[in-house]
Amino acid sequence: MGTLVSFHAHPDDETLLTGGTLARAAALGHRVVLAVATDGEAGLASRTAGGTDLGRTRVAELEQAAATLGCARVVRFGRPDSGWSPGRAPVEGAFSRLPVEVASSALIELLRDEQADALTIYDPAGGYGHPDHRQVHRVGRYAASVARTPCVLEATLPRQLLLRLVRVAARIPGLLDPVRAASFETAYTDRDDITHTVDVRPFLTAKRSALRAHCSQASSDAGPRTLRLLLGLPAPAFRLVAGREWFVERTPASPITTQFLGPRDGVRSS
Ligand SMILES: [Zn+2]
Repeated sequence: MGTLVSFHAHPDDETLLTGGTLARAAALGHRVVLAVATDGEAGLASRTAGGTDLGRTRVAELEQAAATLGCARVVRFGRPDSGWSPGRAPVEGAFSRLPVEVASSALIELLRDEQADALTIYDPAGGYGHPDHRQVHRVGRYAASVARTPCVLEATLPRQLLLRLVRVAARIPGLLDPVRAASFETAYTDRDDITHTVDVRPFLTAKRSALRAHCSQASSDAGPRTLRLLLGLPAPAFRLVAGREWFVERTPASPITTQFLGPRDGVRSS
């Protein structure tokens, strides 16, 4: 059995990008440790219905989602959330603006402490481009090299699949503005560069419950939210959209990766 550390920018990213994979690894008996850089206090919903501080709410949601997925430990680094307002730079001291050597110290310590076999991060584009997500890539790679964690796995989506979904969404009035839709042309990862497609359909009940735990991010009225869209899907469509998760292994192929993610693509059709 191995130890998998999954590093994320904000509460809910762990479920959206890797929830099924983490549930799968935990169910197989691996130790799954969740590490989250920020408490997500700059999320789009500034206040919850009860008037509670958003960061505190999201931490509670994270704990519940992690328990649902079977994570053995949750570690929060408590770095300031950069937020995301296109055209406006994140405030000084925010996670994305910290020098990599500074921002990675807690993760290096965690990787050493856990003697991690593998670390999940994001692709270099930071998926859809959030500055904290791009920083997760830089910090994760650096921390793994210092801590000598042998496997680094980039959680991502196949760009071509995303663009197909975006084109459908763009036809629904008011769902997606054209500028946002165009930004996906360079988001995530080309299908040909993805090394692992994980079938997480047997773990969709846990993934859906974990998504529901992040209800502050589904109930916001600040425009379309991925979480709300996903939870609104009927079961067959949810299975289709959320039933697979994707990774890029740039470090040398390792048997422990096969244990965590299953076989490489190409070993079977996808
Ligand atoms: Zn995020």
